[in-house]
Amino acid sequence: MLPVGVIIKLAKLGDGPEIFHTIQGEGVSVGAPAVFIRSSRCNLHCHWCDTDHTWNFEGTPWKHEKNTKYQKSAVTWEMETAAAAERILSFDCSRTIITGGEPLLQESAFLEVIQVIRQKKPAHQFEVETNGTRIPCPEFAAAVDQFNVSPKLANSGMEEILRIRPDALRFYAANPKAWFKFVVASADDLQEIKELMRLHDLPREKVILMPEGRTSAELDRIAPWLAECCRDCGFRFSDRLHIRLWGDKRGV
Ligand code: SF4
Repeated sequence: MLPVGVIIKLAKLGDGPEIFHTIQGEGVSVGAPAVFIRSSRCNLHCHWCDTDHTWNFEGTPWKHEKNTKYQKSAVTWEMETAAAAERILSFDCSRTIITGGEPLLQESAFLEVIQVIRQKKPAHQFEVETNGTRIPCPEFAAAVDQFNVSPKLANSGMEEILRIRPDALRFYAANPKAWFKFVVASADDLQEIKELMRLHDLPREKVILMPEGRTSAELDRIAPWLAECCRDCGFRFSDRLHIRLWGDKRGV
């Protein structure tokens, strides 16, 4: 018997929750049709975060390069987990990407969403996008098909003690469901990633590097160099298809 009436905090898009049907734009499942569900709240506050509406609320001390504060009620949508599951099921799609913000802050609620959907569609696939600072509970880890782990680098502006949690990275490094995604802007980023891999035993065949940029032109400046680095170092390269197709527009 599944619990009912549990509230999940999602980002708001227009006059509803940020749940939308699109394609996965990056990482190992790039190109796959997927329903995205975006959780509100994050335990980090990266100064270039492109989903700052999930956490940079009025009255908080966090700094962001946009210098914009959001009224919490204007960017948050609360709904019951069963209703969120129904919304996802309304799309003809067999893959859901649970993203944020940091979805693991609400893992119990997301586990319920997964359970409700799997009752109706047992083969439905779930990916979770996480910053890799929290170890999921065993039930959540078992229910999820793929973890897309994006540890944050020094360029996030976050203190290392907050963004790098060795116990969590060890968990993901040993978990066959985990892939590690990094956005790379420079050779310094690459060095930092290699050092993280060395310190936390991240398997290089599970590391995916993507060019930094918010437009196709910006991606193009870095992509050829980064692709060659991936070839030479044995990493996987991923483009960022959603930026090429839609720029930084939300909900597509
Ligand atoms: S961890 Fe991700 S969602 Fe959280 S602030 Fe950083 S970039 Fe944004």
